[in-house]
Amino acid sequence: MIGMLKSLWAVGRKLLAPTQTQLYPEEQPLLAPRYRGRIILSRDPDGAERCVACNLCAVVCPVDCIEVVKAETVEGRWYPETFRINFARCIFCGLCEEACPTAAIQLTPDFELADYARASLVYDKPDLLIAGTGKYPGYRYWDVAGKAQPAPPSVDVKGLEP
Ligand code: SF4
Ligand code: SF4
Repeated sequence: MIGMLKSLWAVGRKLLAPTQTQLYPEEQPLLAPRYRGRIILSRDPDGAERCVACNLCAVVCPVDCIEVVKAETVEGRWYPETFRINFARCIFCGLCEEACPTAAIQLTPDFELADYARASLVYDKPDLLIAGTGKYPGYRYWDVAGKAQPAPPSVDVKGLEP
């Protein structure tokens, strides 16, 4: 009898405890700024496309889901004529963003990519290219490419000890 009452007490306490369940999509989850979700292509602060069609992102992609076709302007500058990502294959590892020298390709905290048709998960350049700079507002590849940069401050190893 006492055991039964203890069990009822335990169940009652759980029933009255505040719930941890979030009513998604009515309540949106709090995502870390570095959450790796939907991929975008960003622009320089002056509005020009950042991507120089170097193909590094496609080479580093472990599931081979990026396709870049290079074109060239009359000034000889490369840009992607085609930029395609198959999100049905992407594992959101972020390696493409790490490899990109121009900060063009970026993963964003948007995970709402679900669709009914696999073909809809293939995003082309107009689906990927945004109007702004994304995570790196002041960065412009052409301001730093081939130029000596100040050395970063050295790390105080003592400060990393527990
Ligand atoms: S996040 Fe990973 S899997 Fe997805 S496109 Fe980039 S490199 Fe490929
Ligand atoms: S997104 Fe970056 S790594 Fe990929 S082709 Fe463009 S410049 Fe190169």
